[in-house]
Amino acid sequence: MSAKSGSLRRLTQYLRPYLRPNRRLVAGGFVAMFAEVAFRIIEPWPLKFVIDAVIVPGAADSPGIISLLIACACGVIAAAGLRALSSYLMTVCFALAGTRTMNAVRGHVYAHALRLSLRFHSGTRSGDLINRLVSDVGKLRDVAVTAAMPLIGNCVTLVAMFTVMMILDWRLGLVILAAFPVFLMSSRIAARRITTAARVQRAREGDLAGAAGETFGAMKVVQAYTLESSLERQFAESNERELTEGVRATKLAAGLERSTDVLVGIATGAVLLVGGMSVLNGHLTPGELVVFVQYLKGAFKPMRDLAKYTGRIAKAAASGERILALVDEDPDIRDREGAHDLARPDGRVRFRGVSASYDDETPSLTDIDLEVDEGERIALVGHSGSGKSTLASLLLRLQDPQSGSVEIDGRDLRDCTLDSVRSATSIVLQESVLFAGTIRENIRMGRPAATDEHVDWAAEVANVAEFTAHLPDGLDTVVGERGDTLSGGQRQRIAIARAILRDARIIILDEATTGLDATSGQAVRDAIARLTTGRTTFVVTHDIDDAIACDRVVVLDRGRIVEQGAPTELLKLPGSRLSILNGAKESLGA
Ligand code: ADP
Ligand code: MG
Repeated sequence: MSAKSGSLRRLTQYLRPYLRPNRRLVAGGFVAMFAEVAFRIIEPWPLKFVIDAVIVPGAADSPGIISLLIACACGVIAAAGLRALSSYLMTVCFALAGTRTMNAVRGHVYAHALRLSLRFHSGTRSGDLINRLVSDVGKLRDVAVTAAMPLIGNCVTLVAMFTVMMILDWRLGLVILAAFPVFLMSSRIAARRITTAARVQRAREGDLAGAAGETFGAMKVVQAYTLESSLERQFAESNERELTEGVRATKLAAGLERSTDVLVGIATGAVLLVGGMSVLNGHLTPGELVVFVQYLKGAFKPMRDLAKYTGRIAKAAASGERILALVDEDPDIRDREGAHDLARPDGRVRFRGVSASYDDETPSLTDIDLEVDEGERIALVGHSGSGKSTLASLLLRLQDPQSGSVEIDGRDLRDCTLDSVRSATSIVLQESVLFAGTIRENIRMGRPAATDEHVDWAAEVANVAEFTAHLPDGLDTVVGERGDTLSGGQRQRIAIARAILRDARIIILDEATTGLDATSGQAVRDAIARLTTGRTTFVVTHDIDDAIACDRVVVLDRGRIVEQGAPTELLKLPGSRLSILNGAKESLGA
């Protein structure tokens, strides 16, 4: 079977559970659809009665002729009216069912994407993901509503009309039947080629969205380095390639529609020829021939629509594949069967022979053994790329170790629920990310249930109140996307307030004070001191004074712990890295 039917089948399987809550709407739609088909079948019959009655010689004088004409006229009007009503109900039912179904799908795809591991997300462009979520789901929805459901109606109409035609005159029926295989074959071939073209086109569109997303996410760099023209050129090239594929798909679809038109013309000609002879031979009445030609038009309209829909469904199949590919991604970090709750841990942390890698080849951490007491402050120092952030991500279970285990309070993190592991730990990064909204909303993300007083308190403790006091709206000041409207030190303090509100037992500061000037660095350090009192703390830092202020210093080099101990002891050791770093700093200061 072709790839198209395979992926369509998978798609229908995937969609079925989402369709279930709307099955009444779907059933109603089908009832309306059958009614519509029935009225469509009935519609030409009054014409037959009228024609056959009026062509009889002397018909004008026959007694019942006027009442027959009136009855037939009323019949035509009634059939048309009822058909319109059924058709309306069908459209509304299908549209509602389709829209609701696909919106539920979109919600689930989003929820699914949120739970995929960072490993997945760091290998996928966010613009492409957004495109799948918004545009591909939207395309699928439009097609489901405007093509897939009517398609079923068209098939029913075709079969019903064909049956009546066979009863009227089987020779004529066979003429029409001959047209079907030709049609089916050409539409199948075209559909396959359209899907292929649409698949490439959608992928190109995803690339476009990915590139645009990256660019808009880094406007500062783009403008500072005047990358506008070169980015514009790159975009134009990708845009052009996308256009080529789009045009190919559209051409194929249009070609299929037009070849169906020609096929319909040939079939109509054949029916006129064979049907005219049938009337001459007396097999058919002239009225029946008219009904036949009417049916022909009625039956070929669905066929023409089929051609139109085939193109659109083929394109939607490409969109469906992209959604399925995303849905099929397994969240590799998730709750194990029977995982237990970490509850509120004391904050003892232990790394047992931990190795970690991002690509399963180059190790980022090797054989890490580290035991940390409740409330202990650990400084993690080492060159950039030595594995400090990786160590932190293991503690949050943003990734799992390749070998060994990470434990909190003696429990392997893989045996605990993800939620409880993550709420045991707060992290403050070097570049804290804020979301568009007010400062208050951003702080409250630490704990959504917190009261306003609680948020105010956290803002006070984290030195946020110090700068919001000068803003006209205070804590309710709206910040731009990613907090672009605030300075680095201000963003850090908001992030610390968030962490304070979260009240986790373990705190990770991943270069939280790096790159801040002396004054705002001091305000952030004060806030950090209040945040970390009495909690197990990991301080990733390049600042020797920050490191010395901790209970223990752990020096990492190329993914291994090369030195650890109390700062005072390490400083006494002449060859230790800490004392070398300290010496370097003192000679710089001198
Ligand atoms: P540090 O925080 O000490 O600067 P990291 O823990 O970020 O170092 O990085 C350790 C190693 O892992 C580096 O060699 C880096 O190239 C690699 N690494 C970090 N993050 C990723 C990632 N998302 N994908 C692939 N490799 C990564
Ligand atoms: Mg780092």
